Amino acid sequence: MIRVQPLLAFFILVSVSFSAALILGQERDRARIEDRYKWNLADIYPSVATWRQEKEKIAAEIPKMKTFTGKLGSSAKVLADALDTMTRLDKELSRLYVYSTMLSDQDTRASEPQGMRQEMQTLYAGFGAQIAFIAPELLKVGSAKIDRFIATEPRLKTYTFFLHDALRRAPHTLSDVEEKLLADTQPLAASGQNVFEILSNADFPYPTVTLSDGRKLKIDQAGFIEARALPNRKDREVGMSAFFQAMGTFSRTFGTTMNANIQQELLFAKARKYPTTLELSLDGPNIPVSVYTRLIDGVNKNIATFHRYLRLRKRMMNVTDQLHYYDLYAPLVASVNLKYTPEDAQKHVLAALAPLGPDYVSVIQRAFNERWIDLLPTEGKRSGAYSDGGAYDVHPYMLINYQGQYNDVSTLAHELGHTMQSYFSNKTQPFALANYPTFVAEVASTFNEALLIDYMLGQIKDETVRLSLLGNYLENIKGTVFRQAQFAEFEMKVHEMGVKGQPITGEALAKLYLDITKRYYGHDQSVVIVDDYIAHEWSYVPHFYRNFYVYQYATSFTAAEALEAKVIAGDPAAKTRYLTFLAAGGSKYPIELLKDAGVDMTTDEPLDLTIRKMNRVMDEMEAILAKR
Ligand SMILES: [Zn+2]
Repeated sequence: MIRVQPLLAFFILVSVSFSAALILGQERDRARIEDRYKWNLADIYPSVATWRQEKEKIAAEIPKMKTFTGKLGSSAKVLADALDTMTRLDKELSRLYVYSTMLSDQDTRASEPQGMRQEMQTLYAGFGAQIAFIAPELLKVGSAKIDRFIATEPRLKTYTFFLHDALRRAPHTLSDVEEKLLADTQPLAASGQNVFEILSNADFPYPTVTLSDGRKLKIDQAGFIEARALPNRKDREVGMSAFFQAMGTFSRTFGTTMNANIQQELLFAKARKYPTTLELSLDGPNIPVSVYTRLIDGVNKNIATFHRYLRLRKRMMNVTDQLHYYDLYAPLVASVNLKYTPEDAQKHVLAALAPLGPDYVSVIQRAFNERWIDLLPTEGKRSGAYSDGGAYDVHPYMLINYQGQYNDVSTLAHELGHTMQSYFSNKTQPFALANYPTFVAEVASTFNEALLIDYMLGQIKDETVRLSLLGNYLENIKGTVFRQAQFAEFEMKVHEMGVKGQPITGEALAKLYLDITKRYYGHDQSVVIVDDYIAHEWSYVPHFYRNFYVYQYATSFTAAEALEAKVIAGDPAAKTRYLTFLAAGGSKYPIELLKDAGVDMTTDEPLDLTIRKMNRVMDEMEAILAKR
């Protein structure tokens, strides 16, 4: 993968919901759903015909970029013209792309929108090829001349961050011939991942088990998620052991696909003169390696708090002997079935987000009233939920599959967090600086979930419901902070084996994974028994092929917790700083953006605040349980 500043502004934030339960015999026919529950894509283009005209116009303009080749250093005006043209085309492409994807997502069965989406992917690839000369050419122009240009041409002010970022990576940018050679390896570079995906999604012989009620369940990815949450312990054990033992029979193959992935990263690190693959990955967004290692060290230092949670889980589940790893996804509280109509959800979300002030709340009102949201599940609609801020000149949109559970209310608050960051960044920043970096992308969304749960806990007095909500919160920390830090530690050690030239085999990876998992779950202290077949869990996690990605789930969560704690404490300066962050887009590097927002990711503070809150939540839960 070539890590140049991504100029293509399309990215979608997805949070997948696994909830399969259907709500209230809801109407599924899109045509019969009231308009107010459907997004209004006509805000982007009044019709597909207009989209097509606009697309043809932009497609005809793309070759203009080529006329700037070899001329970026000729004058400040030419450089500004080139960057203005590139940015304008990128902005319009993004608008075209967003329309095609959302039209396709609202009914994935329709073939015309799918075709439109494919046309856009082709157009984007062509645009990418047309602008590929820019970064290497800027390096040839050199920083002295570029700084002189910036000082004399006011239009270049907007691009200062982009220009300096491209120059920063000069020591890791190669000659034209070498860059071309690296680019040509791209189709090969994902081979490990591609083989893994085909094997696990299509060809893997997933086993079938018989459950305690006689039902046969195929333990593929979906069956596994169902089995591990079943109320009967024996069923959970049968499902989980069957799944991981089946993975184990392909251990050599999975080890080989992972080795291929590590070797390609090592090749790129070496070619680009980075001592490790970790440094290669973190240098793009300019994140210090210490942010990564500090997370892992901090989570290990606080592992006793995690064990306290696991013991509480055991108590709540009434497990009298040993808690096992296969018990960890079973429901914590016997079902609390709260239902929220869409109107309830709006009311709660508005009240919960009120601490962010009237400006913030008034935009949320617009999202509800001006049809920014496609709320209800309908026939053929894409599953899950996302927010998309890619239509820069219009407004962000949200796709939700609302089914009336607390989790759905929380998803709405979550996606509104993304939407508000897009809205304020798009409104405040020029297009070139509006797109916020991945490292901070889940902060605003998680922040809103935290505000919602605090608000709901202020409203709900029923202790069973409180236990359920508090338990939900802890499960979230388990999955987002502890499990992702555990993954991040495993991943770091696998890459270290690669850097040291040690063999990366299925057997070695299984041993490493089992050792780390036993430590995190307190196997030796009998907190949770981690059975030997858990060694193969690593092999089904697709994220390990997106090198050094998952740690950001944990850092986003702790950053959001820390910021929410400061805002909710009532300090008006904390609120102002946070709102400034929401409007800052990608105008700085992620660590600086968060520092301005009020949290320093190069310190232990964010994790410490998260751990403190976790302990407060457990204090309350134990107090409720003690009364029973
Ligand atoms: Zn999200």
